[in-house]
Amino acid sequence: MRKNLFILLTGILALVGGVCFLISGANGEKSKPTVTEQICQTSQVQKPRVLTKSDMEYFIMTEINGILRSQLVMGELPYVEINERFKSSNKLVVGRTGKNVNVTLVANYHWAHKGVEAAEGCSSDGTVACLELYIPAIMNTFERLRDSGNPEWRKVFQSHVIVIFMHEMEHARIASPSDHIDISEESRAWDDTCRYVIDPMVEIYGLPLFKTEDGLYRAWKIANGNTKDPVWVNAVQNIYGKIDGLTTKK
Ligand SMILES: [Zn+2]
Repeated sequence: MRKNLFILLTGILALVGGVCFLISGANGEKSKPTVTEQICQTSQVQKPRVLTKSDMEYFIMTEINGILRSQLVMGELPYVEINERFKSSNKLVVGRTGKNVNVTLVANYHWAHKGVEAAEGCSSDGTVACLELYIPAIMNTFERLRDSGNPEWRKVFQSHVIVIFMHEMEHARIASPSDHIDISEESRAWDDTCRYVIDPMVEIYGLPLFKTEDGLYRAWKIANGNTKDPVWVNAVQNIYGKIDGLTTKK
């Protein structure tokens, strides 16, 4: 099944800044697994909803493309540290696989959980690193923030999009895809996400964080970057404990 990766990906294909963006799926239902994935759960479960493809395309055009396609992957975010980290992560991927990271904007929810907004993995032969963003889940977060009354909600959303994308790039840096949801890999990748992405966001640019990242970052600061510290272990457990070990393999 995993060999069918490129058959499952359909729709719009564009090369931007050397990173390939695709759109797949259409109906807001749960997706079938396409790759061996690292799971990144960053928001709560939402009720099922019906989304049309044009709803999602409009959302991608107005809320995602500017920050990701026009800025992040082009190295043009106003945050140099993050541009550099993206460049270095993609370079590692290219060095290992010979190809840029494939980014897919998925029009379905993730198979494991409706709160999963992004996942990373590789094709069965290990030759393509695949980063998937689950648009219905991201739209749920966007709408919750928009309706929150927080005057900085849009800044929070934008920092969140950068963090979830860059967190997947942290997974992509190493060539160890697992066939199940692996909390120890999440701990490792979030540790580096805090160090190389969230810390500069907060300490240098004063950006507001989404609650999930905020909780992890606070724990990371208290633990002083020690992934064995109980405060950090608990913070990661709170997010991934219930889905750790889940797999699509029988
Ligand atoms: Zn992750």
